[in-house]
Amino acid sequence: MKEITNKVQAIAAKLFEEGKIDVFLAWEKGELNFKTKSYVARNALDVKNIVFDEYSIYNVSNSLLKFRDSHERIGIAVKGCDSRGIVRLLEDLQIKRDRLYIVGIPCPGMKDPLAAARNHGGFSKKQEEDGLAKKCLDCIQPNPVIYDELVGPEQSPRQQGDRFARVKEIEQMSADERYKFWEDTFSTCIRCYACRQVCVACDCRTCIFDEMKPQWVGRENSSTDNMMYHLVKHSHMAGRCIECGECERVCPVNIPLMLLNRKLIKDVGTLFGGPEAGMQYVEGSKPPLSVYRENDPDSFL
Ligand code: SF4
Ligand code: SF4
Ligand code: SF4
Repeated sequence: MKEITNKVQAIAAKLFEEGKIDVFLAWEKGELNFKTKSYVARNALDVKNIVFDEYSIYNVSNSLLKFRDSHERIGIAVKGCDSRGIVRLLEDLQIKRDRLYIVGIPCPGMKDPLAAARNHGGFSKKQEEDGLAKKCLDCIQPNPVIYDELVGPEQSPRQQGDRFARVKEIEQMSADERYKFWEDTFSTCIRCYACRQVCVACDCRTCIFDEMKPQWVGRENSSTDNMMYHLVKHSHMAGRCIECGECERVCPVNIPLMLLNRKLIKDVGTLFGGPEAGMQYVEGSKPPLSVYRENDPDSFL
């Protein structure tokens, strides 16, 4: 990984020196070894702070949202999941391709800084596994799908078996059993909105959950309001979730959010076909459910 860090630093430095970018988005070391976090280099001198290490798990494409209303030309280092996030933002017209110089890094899999923090924090006597993060064990696309330059050898997907197996089990339940399952699952949600903040597909400028006049969704930690939050959030992800797993990773109460995301991925695949969200970028293309046509056969539209 040191070699990849050196290459990314060299590319970023060259881009700054040639005047081709104004900022470069990547990762930097935190105060502890496992606290690698997102980083914005603003000049060639900053480039020495860029790292790519075993904890560079944060989906850095999310950082692009901070630049959507400005004009900086942006260099960005991306893993497979991050690159799918870039496709999400291009399709959603949040950023223009010609503002980006994308350095792709085939990803060997990451460890989870949050799991490491729990191991070091003393809150739990039970030590967690120090292997790859769950989202990386489930990864179907470690190689960047969009880039200007590629750094490092191609990696193989790590996901084994049928990633929809648990979804299929839940589909076999009766409607009442399913309702109870999801009600119980979401009952521990503390509505911290970390899953929304970390999500690159949650790119609305005004979020329905922040609206107070009118207040569309209540703010209590009640079963009804929790269910409403997840129903709305996840329905907005249909055809758009790029399966980066960040929402589930950052959830402080370990709600299995990817289960619902995968149900939507499975259903959208069945109903509409085509490549999964963020797997390829074709200029002008839109994900299913984000296009409206006047001759749509669904009369309620
Ligand atoms: S999900 Fe895949 S691309 Fe993303 S950090 Fe994990 S292994 Fe890398
Ligand atoms: S991160 Fe977890 S606890 Fe927080 S709002 Fe999302 S599901 Fe609820
Ligand atoms: S819903 Fe979760 S997995 Fe899907 S794009 Fe958002 S953070 Fe990634």
